Amino acid sequence: AKSVGRGTFRFFEPEMDAQLQARRMLEVDLRKALANGEFELFYQPQVDIRRKAITGYEALLRWRHPERGIVSPAEFIPVAEDIGLISPLGEWVVHEACREASGWPAPLKVAVNLSPVQFRNRNLVQCVKQALEESGLCPSRLELEITESVLLQDNDTTLATLHQLRKLGLRIAMDDFGTGYSSLSYLRSFPFDKIKIDQSFVQGLSSRADCLAIVQSIAGLGASLGMSTVAEGVETEDQLVQLRAAGCTEAQGYYFGRPRPARDLTHSLEDFGPV
Ligand code: C2E
Ligand code: CA
Ligand code: CA
Ligand code: CA
Repeated sequence: AKSVGRGTFRFFEPEMDAQLQARRMLEVDLRKALANGEFELFYQPQVDIRRKAITGYEALLRWRHPERGIVSPAEFIPVAEDIGLISPLGEWVVHEACREASGWPAPLKVAVNLSPVQFRNRNLVQCVKQALEESGLCPSRLELEITESVLLQDNDTTLATLHQLRKLGLRIAMDDFGTGYSSLSYLRSFPFDKIKIDQSFVQGLSSRADCLAIVQSIAGLGASLGMSTVAEGVETEDQLVQLRAAGCTEAQGYYFGRPRPARDLTHSLEDFGPV
């Protein structure tokens, strides 16, 4: 009888060890990755639905792990946030995105994702300012994407930081809109320039009436508040047609093109795919 407890323990122990060990290895590799130049930004086009023209690109981080190949940001960003690496990594992202975008024809924009954790760093505004100055990118061509969780950790400093960033002349977009808890009150607390409609609503368009109703409401809300609305995760022509009818101003997704390295961008929609 005494062996049951121990037997159970022994059964789980190696597995837990393996998980912990994998996590430790990821942490060790991640700490070296920045210095080793293993990160790269991919860019996915955002398209003006009426004009059918590229307005800019969202920068999406990729990690070329020497043994594992490309690792998804969904896997390593939470770890980078945990171990205090997101600030230096995020600084690299802002600098790299501004530097690369400064070589694109104006007025093409670049959108950069910011982690909520970066807002706890006092140097965030200074870092963005420096990236703009060093690259010479016109601030109106930089957009920062934040999620509602940034405002969740709210205190006055978060809002003050957002206002300081805005004062630099750049734009602020709310990402993954509709997935949080009280999106509408957040829209009141800060004047966003853009709302990104979460891809879960876009992907439900063909099969679910509620998704269409939600997309229409968000597009209408954006229009009346003077914010542009971007639909994320657009994969089919049918979705695009519905989004246009709903009044969305921009679209982004595999239908127009997957994220690509900067060197592969031609800034022509035809080179990306249909439309
Ligand atoms: P996100 O900001 O919501 O980015 C959109 C994600 O949807 C990207 O995944 C993109 O590749 C994917 N996507 C685009 N079009 C489609 C489509 O038509 N269908 C489908 N199924 N997916 C599509 P990705 O690149 O794996 O990035 C995942 C998340 O990682 C991002 O979600 C963002 O939260 C985070 N992330 C990426 N780069 C950065 C970064 O530089 N900094 C920070 N803090 N987070 C980042
Ligand atoms: Ca985003
Ligand atoms: Ca998103
Ligand atoms: Ca997301």
